[in-house]
Amino acid sequence: MTRDQIFEFFRRLAEANPSPTTELDYINPYTLLVAVVLSAQATDASVNVATGPLFKFITTPRQMIAFGEDRLREAIKSIGLFNTKAKNVVALSQALIDRHEGEVPRVRDELEALPGVGRKTANVLLNTAFGEETFAVDTHVFRVCNRTGLAPGETVDDVEAKLEKIVPQPFRRDAHHWLILHGRYTCKARLPECWRCPVIDLCRYKPKTSPPGERIKAPTAKPSAARTSSRGSSKARTAKGPTASKPRAGHNRSRPSRRP
Ligand code: SF4
Repeated sequence: MTRDQIFEFFRRLAEANPSPTTELDYINPYTLLVAVVLSAQATDASVNVATGPLFKFITTPRQMIAFGEDRLREAIKSIGLFNTKAKNVVALSQALIDRHEGEVPRVRDELEALPGVGRKTANVLLNTAFGEETFAVDTHVFRVCNRTGLAPGETVDDVEAKLEKIVPQPFRRDAHHWLILHGRYTCKARLPECWRCPVIDLCRYKPKTSPPGERIKAPTAKPSAARTSSRGSSKARTAKGPTASKPRAGHNRSRPSRRP
């Protein structure tokens, strides 16, 4: 995309949703950190169900340590990987007490040194809790950036580096939220909803989808043709294909006031 097209891409997403934010419920930087750690390979909605009751009485690392790993595990058992996540949340809470006087640091390296915290989580914290212009690349951002041609890359790090380079002001602060929401609600992994997409004319993805009522039903494939198609599909699962939804490395979420 050209610089003008990139500006227009974000201008339209911003017009549709002027104040994007995370869909994870949180109270302060610490509870946001806990929620983001819990959201790995889980939906924001499922995390909110578990953290709703929890954050009524736990909002600091010290309260979490007093609560303990066993009770935390029980409180979050509806979320995938709850054993590991409970361990990490307790460990990172202790690390915050030991190294940062119970406060969440605003420094990337210090965030990434916490148990269970990777680059994507650090980016979310720096952006959403502290207002920094960072670009957290999750599965939705990775897919949208590749499909549209906005910031194509083989890995999440490639995509993040490209976003760093190309996203113009005044969109840098909220860019990752717009991209996440666009991927979650419009440019969906299995079937993008191109017919209602605000950036359809800017997007390079070729097989644009039509509204449900206008789709032509595919003829039933013969067995041999189906096998061929199946083999071919592995090739289609490239970063630019319709099924390209998984980043190669690393892994949010948000309730739009209006969907982008
Ligand atoms: S036109 Fe389709 S593929 Fe392109 S960004 Fe919009 S929904 Fe995604």
